[in-house]
Amino acid sequence: MTAEAPTLDRALVPRSDRHQVVVVGSGFGGLFGTKALRDADVDVTMIAKTSHHLFQPLLYQVATGILSEGEIAPPTREVLARQKNAQVLLGEVTDIDLAARTVTSHVLGRELVTPYDSLIVAAGAGQSYFGNDHFAEFAPGMKSIDDALELRGRIFGAFEMAELGAARGENVDHLLTFVVVGAGPTGVEMAGQIAELAHRTLTRDFRAISSRRARVILVDAAPQVLPPFGARLGTWTKKKLEDLGVEVMLGALVSEVDERGLVVKYKDGSEEHISAVTKVWAAGVQANPLGKTLAAQTGAPLDRAGRIGVNPDLTLPGYPEVFVVGDMIALDNLPGVAQVAIQGAKYAAKVIDGRLKGKAPQKPFKYFDKGSMAIISRFRAVAVVGKLRLTGFVAWLMWLGVHLVYITGFKNRVTAVLHWLISFLGRGRSERTSTEQQIFARVALQRLTGGTSDLVSQPGEYDAEAERRRRDELEQRAAEEVRLTDTQVRGVKA
Ligand SMILES: Cc1cc2nc3c(=O)[nH]c(=O)nc-3n(C[C@H](O)[C@H](O)[C@H](O)COP(=O)(O)OP(=O)(O)OC[C@H]3O[C@@H](n4cnc5c(N)ncnc54)[C@H](O)[C@@H]3O)c2cc1C
Repeated sequence: MTAEAPTLDRALVPRSDRHQVVVVGSGFGGLFGTKALRDADVDVTMIAKTSHHLFQPLLYQVATGILSEGEIAPPTREVLARQKNAQVLLGEVTDIDLAARTVTSHVLGRELVTPYDSLIVAAGAGQSYFGNDHFAEFAPGMKSIDDALELRGRIFGAFEMAELGAARGENVDHLLTFVVVGAGPTGVEMAGQIAELAHRTLTRDFRAISSRRARVILVDAAPQVLPPFGARLGTWTKKKLEDLGVEVMLGALVSEVDERGLVVKYKDGSEEHISAVTKVWAAGVQANPLGKTLAAQTGAPLDRAGRIGVNPDLTLPGYPEVFVVGDMIALDNLPGVAQVAIQGAKYAAKVIDGRLKGKAPQKPFKYFDKGSMAIISRFRAVAVVGKLRLTGFVAWLMWLGVHLVYITGFKNRVTAVLHWLISFLGRGRSERTSTEQQIFARVALQRLTGGTSDLVSQPGEYDAEAERRRRDELEQRAAEEVRLTDTQVRGVKA
């Protein structure tokens, strides 16, 4: 069934005759930009495709059972409840018309057109599979709560399936092998946590398998771990990962991924197949496709990662009322980190407010680098702050402090600390719950042409006969998927 075109084309009526600011995204840029406009004489409409603000740096802890999803993803509506000039709308922005000054968004087939006087685009970045998008089915990335919960299900599910297989006397090596692709901060943190799970948390939980037998492999085409942290910290991190039981494979390019494993290619041209049911993709980012929409209308350049070139004041060439911030921009080699988005969004808010107050134009945007850090395991981290290079417990304490400051909401800070005490001082992980739906829903939804919109009736009058036909078609599709799987055209039967 093809997705029906959205039938509603409703323009949002401005709430007042004040200056209308639209903010796209509820991530670091979107939330901090909206908050920074709290005292400005404007109405702010934040449009985002999720109803929560996401603290991405802790996604790996949701995936490995340390934190619950709510602790790192508070509802944006609640965060902004007291900010009277802010309104939150759920919707995926599909178009921005710079000439008409409108933003078009969709949710479940409902379309909304929102006019703006000033616009802040902070739609972030997605995973890049470097042109191999078919890897995504078997190696989920780590960009959203859906990703983290799916990975949680896959990781803990692999141990469950291994227990089952071992109890039947089968070889379960492929189930107990976990491969993380990408040795940047996310890959290092993920590999470290899976190793701690296997060698510490789960050691008493199984009868037919020993979780200690699990192989955790970290693969990267680069010659070192954590390249932006420099050679010394990279070497230190690699050693600490190996002490934890992680196998680090460098100079190894992933050339194929399927349900049962992956193939890595070395510089000398040799190849190796690794049998592993659980793969995590933590390599490469691609800026949000809205960058392309904006580039087409302005002639602004896009770099290889799809990031758009902006003016030094973060505006688009020829459109001083449109700001782009965070992971979407290519400016002065700024890194894709939270502080670039936060500082950029605050800067844009200040410019908008200043213009309305008739103040002189701001100086160009200047990023203040507060440092970077990555955690390897409990009590071990690396950090770069200015010229300082820190390792071990001191860096870990710094990591703890910084993350506590930036987690949104007092309650979330308290519960995160409790969970950290359970996991770091004890050996427990209280957030191990996962469901079959979490593991398989993403793949199933992707097989529907119109995604979730295919599963709901379209706006407008309810036509029972059309609904029945649509559901019959969906059932036929599901039956076809089952046939493809049963005949091993898709996936491999256990
Ligand atoms: C796993 C992981 C770990 C990380 N660790 C660190 C770290 O330790 N330190 C650090 O500084 N940085 C880290 N980062 C990077 C940091 O999270 C990003 O740089 C930061 O989130 C960028 O902010 P942003 O506002 O540009 O985008 P995001 O925070 O990604 O926000 C984008 C927002 O736009 C919304 N959106 C996207 N497309 C649309 C659309 N079409 N319509 C409507 N809404 C849309 C999304 O739902 C989201 O709300 C990490 C990132 C990841 C993925």
